[in-house]
Amino acid sequence: MGTRFLYKTKSVCPVCLKTVYADIVERSDGIYMDKSCDKHGPFSTLIWADRAENYLRWLDYGLVDTAALPQTQAEADRALEGLSFSGCACSLPSSSALMTTNRCNMGCPVCFTRDKKEPLHEPSLAECEKLMRNYREKAGQDAAIEFCGGEPTVREDIFELAGLARDLGFGLIQLNTNGVKLAESGEFCRKLRESGVTTVYLGFDALHEEPYYAKYGKPMLETKLRAVENAAAAGFAIVLVCCVIPGENDGDLGAIVDYAREHMPAVKGVYFQPISYFGIYPPDRIRRITIPDVIRRLAAQHPDVHVEDFGPGSYDHAQCSFNGAYMQDKSGRLRPLTRFSRRRPEPGAVHRVRSGLVNTWTPSGRRTLTIGGMAFQDAWNIDLMRVKRCSIQIIQKDGRLIPLCTKYLSGVQGDKLFPGIG
Ligand code: SF4
Ligand SMILES: [Zn+2]
Repeated sequence: MGTRFLYKTKSVCPVCLKTVYADIVERSDGIYMDKSCDKHGPFSTLIWADRAENYLRWLDYGLVDTAALPQTQAEADRALEGLSFSGCACSLPSSSALMTTNRCNMGCPVCFTRDKKEPLHEPSLAECEKLMRNYREKAGQDAAIEFCGGEPTVREDIFELAGLARDLGFGLIQLNTNGVKLAESGEFCRKLRESGVTTVYLGFDALHEEPYYAKYGKPMLETKLRAVENAAAAGFAIVLVCCVIPGENDGDLGAIVDYAREHMPAVKGVYFQPISYFGIYPPDRIRRITIPDVIRRLAAQHPDVHVEDFGPGSYDHAQCSFNGAYMQDKSGRLRPLTRFSRRRPEPGAVHRVRSGLVNTWTPSGRRTLTIGGMAFQDAWNIDLMRVKRCSIQIIQKDGRLIPLCTKYLSGVQGDKLFPGIG
């Protein structure tokens, strides 16, 4: 099979980050993004390992008008008029992240938030309060908040920060963490839960050590397991987050789902993020895994999970995320509550997504589990059509809301559209 053109969009040159037109095309092993920079030449990246027919159906079910996909540069210009990679978000977020600190207690070799040229970034409580108030005004009272870093738990005032968010009225207050502090102390977990954090979003890449060695440079499995135990005892909702790296942990997806199943109802979700490449990264070391590969592996590795349980997100762009919901039956098995089907267009979709998040990802005795994931974009595969519908945004220190994928976008030599971590 040769190359079959599907549609045109806009992306960036992975070297200089200049905006370029991109062709989305089908080849024998999947859908690619082809693009070319005047200065830096052509680039081609796998974006969806499936046939065009299935890819287009996925887009269609995720409310992309596939009959109107741009066929020429002029049509792409029209479809993306007024938008740029360096602009603010143009859709409301379902959830946004407050960069609480760029300090961390791990110093991982591959961390994308660590930028050695970066000075300390740790907004004071008063600054955080101002940013969170402003965020609620802009995004709406039902928007969720995430504390991210660095590692938010290294802030000595993390309890006060959580209390502030609770007093401001956030219904879902999520802590994105490596779990080290949670594993160290049940008392710390209890205080954090009492302060208002509802949800622990815990990096959890496998049930054996190799992926942790690769990521953290040391064994971490015991820490992760203890973090789950302590967080469950403190009454948090827990979401396990696995960065999927082909050849590293893509054989462990079923085992992670099963571990989650065994730790319901505290564990409410498992979220798989196909690896994306931020920061300086040699192109020949890039290994890709795409959403359909992750879904196929999940179905092959866990008896209760099936390919047709999953569909695209109903609010963000169809290529950004996938989701399925499950209920645990009396025998302990997972039963799917969702099926691959066309999403219904709704005017207030973001509010439905937000209330869905509160229902599924805050503490409760309900034995439901969401399995899903988001494929963050990098300089190789970023697509302005996706950025346009971004649902996860970063609260910048100047108060602007920026799509996560453009906020952290970096060229192969480390250039950025938005310098600075916060
Ligand atoms: S643009 Fe990036 S952060 Fe936003 S919804 Fe898509 S993958 Fe997620
Ligand atoms: Zn270039």
